[in-house]
Amino acid sequence: MTAERCYLDHNASAPLRPGALEAMIAALCGSGNASSVHHEGRQARALIETAREEVAALAAVRPAQIVFTSGGTEANVMALSPAWFARPDRVRLFVSAVEHPSVLNGGQFAPEDVEALPVDDHGVLDVDTTRERIHRWRVMSNGAPFMASVMAANNETGAMQPVEALAVLVHECGGVVHCDAVQTAGKIAFEPVVRSADLITLSAHKFGGPKGTGALIIADEQLGYARPLLRGGGQERGFRAGTENAAAIAGFGVAAGVAAREMPSAGQVAVLRDRLEEELLRIAPDATIFARETQRLPNTSCFAAPGMQAETLLMAFDLEGIALSAGSACSSGKIERSHVLTAMGVEADVARAAIRVSLGWNTTETDIDRFGAAWTRIYNTFQERRRAA
Ligand code: PLP
Repeated sequence: MTAERCYLDHNASAPLRPGALEAMIAALCGSGNASSVHHEGRQARALIETAREEVAALAAVRPAQIVFTSGGTEANVMALSPAWFARPDRVRLFVSAVEHPSVLNGGQFAPEDVEALPVDDHGVLDVDTTRERIHRWRVMSNGAPFMASVMAANNETGAMQPVEALAVLVHECGGVVHCDAVQTAGKIAFEPVVRSADLITLSAHKFGGPKGTGALIIADEQLGYARPLLRGGGQERGFRAGTENAAAIAGFGVAAGVAAREMPSAGQVAVLRDRLEEELLRIAPDATIFARETQRLPNTSCFAAPGMQAETLLMAFDLEGIALSAGSACSSGKIERSHVLTAMGVEADVARAAIRVSLGWNTTETDIDRFGAAWTRIYNTFQERRRAA
C-alpha cells in the first residue's frame, strides 16, 4: 500500500500492528516444531505459549482456555458441532439470521438441524422470538440438547447483539452458547461476552494480527469434545491436530498485546466515525445509515444513498485512493444482496447500494477529511449526471 492510500476497510482485514511483522519474521527463522523436545522445538513452544498468554489476557480468560485455529472460520466450524453433547444425534442449532456465513451454514451440523432466528430492523436479535423457538424445540424434542450462536457485533453494520440476554435464556434451558466475537476482539472490551458464552471465536487479522490464525476460547471447561474437527497428533490438547503455525500465532500474540494496551484509547475511533457520518449526511442528507439507532461497534458505518450503486461507488472511492467495502461483498468480490440488510427488512435496491466504512487503530483525522472530500466530489458528480439524464 502506498502512503497516499487511505485504508478504511478494517472489518475486512486490519493492517498489522507494530511489532507483529517482526515477531513473525523472527519466528519464521526458527526451525523447530513446537512438539519436539530439543532446544529449537522448545523455542517454538515458548513463542506459542507466550502468544497464548497475550491472547488470553486480551479476552480476560486463562491461557488453557485458548485453542489456536487457522482463523475465525475454522473456530466457528469447530465450535458448531453436536460433538459437545453426550447425545450428539439429536442436537438443534439456533443461529441469528445476520451471522457470518461460516456460522449461518451451521458448521458441522446437518442443514436440517439449523434454525435461523430473526432480527429487528436494526439488525438486533429478537430475544422474545428466540425464547419461543427454543421452548418450542424443547417441547417438540422432549428436552433434546441445543446450541445457540450469536455474534458479538455484526461485520457489516457493527450492530451489537444481546449476547448476555441470550446466554441467560439458553443456559436456563440447558443449552450451550457460542459467540463469534471476531469483529469485537481487539476493538472494544468484551468481558461481558466472554463471561456469558461457553465458546468464543477470535480472528487475528481483524485487529492487526496476521491472516490465517485465530482461536476458539473454550470458556466452559466442563465441555468435552467427542469428535474434533481435525484429528491426528494431539496438538492443542487434542482439540485441534496439526503442527502449529508458530509464526502466525506469534504475530497474533503481539497484536493482542498491543490491542489490549491501546484499548483505553479505543473511544477515539468512535469520535472519528461520528465525524465521518456527520460529514456524510451533510453532503447527502438523503443517505441512510444502517443500525445507527442501536448500539454499534465504534469503528463501523454502513450506509446507502438512493440511486447510487455500491459497485460504482467502490470504484469511485478506489480511484480517489480510498479502500472501502460493499455492505454485501462475498468472498469472490462479487457484490450480492446482503443477507444482513435483507434480514433487517431493507429493500433490495437500497441493500444493493450499501457501502461499509470501517475505521481502525491507525485511522487519523486526515483520513476522515479525505473521505469527506472524496464523498463530496463523488456525490456531486452523481447528482449532476442524474440531472443531465
Ligand atoms: N466472523 C466474522 C463476524 C467475520 O467478519 C469474519 C471475517 O470476515 C469471520 C468470522 C471469518 O474470519 P476469518 O477471516 O479469520 O476466517
